[in-house]
Amino acid sequence: MHPGARAAAVAVLLAALVTLVLAADRLFPGLTSRQPARELDRAAREILEELVAINTVEPRGSTEAALAMAARFRAAGFPDEDIHLVGPLPHKQNLVVRLRGTRPELKPLLLLAHLDVVEARREDWSTDPFTLAEKDGYLYGRGTTDMKDMAACWVVTLLDMKRRGIRPQRDVVLALTADEEGGSANGVEWLVKTRRDLIEAAFCLTEGGGGQIHDGRYTVYTLQAAEKVYLTFRLEATDPGGHSALPRRGNPIVRLAAALGRLDSLQFPARLNEVTRSFFARMADVEGGSIGLDMRRLAEAPLPGAGGSSPPSTLLLRSTLPADAADAERRLSRQPYFNALLRTTCTATRIEGGHAENALPQRAIAWVNCRLLPDDSPDEVERALVEAIRDANVKVTRVGDPSQGPAAPLVPEVVQAVEDAVAEMWPHVIVVPTMLTGATDGRILRRAGIPPSGLGAFEDISDSRAHGRDERIGIRQFREERALLAAIVTRLSGAPSR
Ligand SMILES: [Zn+2]
Repeated sequence: MHPGARAAAVAVLLAALVTLVLAADRLFPGLTSRQPARELDRAAREILEELVAINTVEPRGSTEAALAMAARFRAAGFPDEDIHLVGPLPHKQNLVVRLRGTRPELKPLLLLAHLDVVEARREDWSTDPFTLAEKDGYLYGRGTTDMKDMAACWVVTLLDMKRRGIRPQRDVVLALTADEEGGSANGVEWLVKTRRDLIEAAFCLTEGGGGQIHDGRYTVYTLQAAEKVYLTFRLEATDPGGHSALPRRGNPIVRLAAALGRLDSLQFPARLNEVTRSFFARMADVEGGSIGLDMRRLAEAPLPGAGGSSPPSTLLLRSTLPADAADAERRLSRQPYFNALLRTTCTATRIEGGHAENALPQRAIAWVNCRLLPDDSPDEVERALVEAIRDANVKVTRVGDPSQGPAAPLVPEVVQAVEDAVAEMWPHVIVVPTMLTGATDGRILRRAGIPPSGLGAFEDISDSRAHGRDERIGIRQFREERALLAAIVTRLSGAPSR
């Protein structure tokens, strides 16, 4: 480099540093530009600490946490018209913040995190669940993995973009919502119904995925792109009852028990969709061995009538599969997780019956919780249940509406951005699209045509504590999550990178 050019470059650099330091001091007290990443990590941790300390367990609601974050955005110079605190209930307000892009014709990128958490009792925990505690390389506290960690990462990312004066191409919209654990009626569902204008987006990034640590090694990063549908059935057997000294055969408890026994052997047909096929294809290399081989056989099996362009979801009838693929499916299905990925499942979860020890029961009720593949029909699942029960005296009714949503296709742009960002940080880690066997608020967005992609931090797969006691996130994994999410936002929003 020419000495003059070098001097000029140094001067520009110095000016930039001074600007950065001045701007930084305003947003994050004590922030210096020398180690921006480290300072962002510190800011993220401070925000996580603040969020954990605000108890957002039902029925308290999460407005206090939303207000605390709103104050940070206001202090950072976000204009009032881009900070919205909205919701049907005073204690369940949602915060929606917008960082404006340069190309309003592009649909925004939506970042979503729920602020509420599930109950945590002090007496069950080793530490106070509502005080962020550091121990053995981990941060403990309710919400450290589900999902105040991600909320803190989104907040820091947006504040940092604002601080550095970065204008993304598309708007970046952050929604910190209420009521996910408690039912979502006042959170994402309310926003979609009532304030769609605020959260309209091309796609959304939220919880549901993340990296897996197997025996201390980072192996795969799961990108959640589909989720199963939640549907519960109530089975009820009734009878006039009578004295237990004069029993008759087949009282309601006995009939219900027999019905549940028959249900236990009901197995729905296996199906693959774009997401699960891709999951098995990519996991085949990670797993290796005989399981890997079975995954490959299944993922590559020719589908009936597919002819090269397979429909999004295709019935895998064992009889129509090549024998080795049918065997592979049977073997994989022995593992509960693979079984849940391959088919709709139904299982009894609660039972209730009788009214006295010395009386014949007049009523017995069981609840059967089903998790449907995204494109399975609730009517057909109900028909299959009734058929398997084979007892017209056991009444089957649905509890609530299924959270039905289409099996959204993978969004190539998102998959690419996640793959690139992961490859940059961990070249050997494979990105694997997955279908969540549980349920998140993503289902509501998927149904509304805003495809969500689930991300997250790296976590030891044998020690996941979300919703459990001593919930925790690795300090290193939290730092990495922040960096990864920021890199993905940069790519997807069209922001100039650091
Ligand atoms: Zn969650």
